[in-house]
Amino acid sequence: MLQIKNFSVEIENRKILQNITIDFSVKAGRLFVLFGPNGSGKSTILGGIMGFSKYKVSGDIILNNEKINELSIDERVKKGLAYMYQNPPKLKGITLENIREEIPPNEQNSDAKDLSIENLQQRDINVGFSGGETKRTELYTLSLLRNTKIFLFDEPDSGVDVDNLKIVARYIKRMLVTNNATGVIITHNGEILKYLDAERSAVIYNGKIVCEGDPKTVWNCIRKEGYKSCVNCKEVEKND
Ligand code: ADP
Ligand code: MG
Repeated sequence: MLQIKNFSVEIENRKILQNITIDFSVKAGRLFVLFGPNGSGKSTILGGIMGFSKYKVSGDIILNNEKINELSIDERVKKGLAYMYQNPPKLKGITLENIREEIPPNEQNSDAKDLSIENLQQRDINVGFSGGETKRTELYTLSLLRNTKIFLFDEPDSGVDVDNLKIVARYIKRMLVTNNATGVIITHNGEILKYLDAERSAVIYNGKIVCEGDPKTVWNCIRKEGYKSCVNCKEVEKND
């Protein structure tokens, strides 16, 4: 169970989010979808929840009835949170093989094959990788965190072609089931939702939540009318 209450975030003294309240809880294996135009504050929500240092957060981040604002990133990960970067850093001098060497033999997994990243094992992570290679590698490293209970996926579909989209979506579904976990997903492209069990959604616009409702209904509305229409939309459940 993950919630934010009266959640505000500043970056370098600029207010990005103000008093946002969202309950991200969904059933095991399912996803909460966060929609919103570029620059509306979606990554800021997930980065603030993880505790990345550039975000100055106030309000409550509640994980399984515990306020986790004061915990370090490591401690949040140990409590079961994991984040998939929208733009993952390039790790010069670190390869997937290096990471695998740190994992005990009985905890190794064969997912590198399923994700078609075997040929990337000896390359510096994300250095010169294509969009699809980067996303598949991110999913692989996330899959090594076996006690994750809530995955935060920041645009896993961006820069990904149709074939890779299927691989990414199916793997996300499998990770949720394997870990008996839930997820929050940010997407600009409703296409990925065809392959996933999305249960609830919210739309963020200019740093505020303007709408909540069924993901497919909300996405159809965004696709037809644009994000701005969400501010005045009467058709789906509203959150004032
Ligand atoms: P989204 O993920 O919805 O596209 P973001 O959460 O990345 O949006 O960004 C929200 C706002 O915060 C944007 O206006 C962006 O320019 C601003 N922002 C993000 N990072 C920084 C930073 N390091 N310094 C100043 N502003 C930032
Ligand atoms: Mg973003």
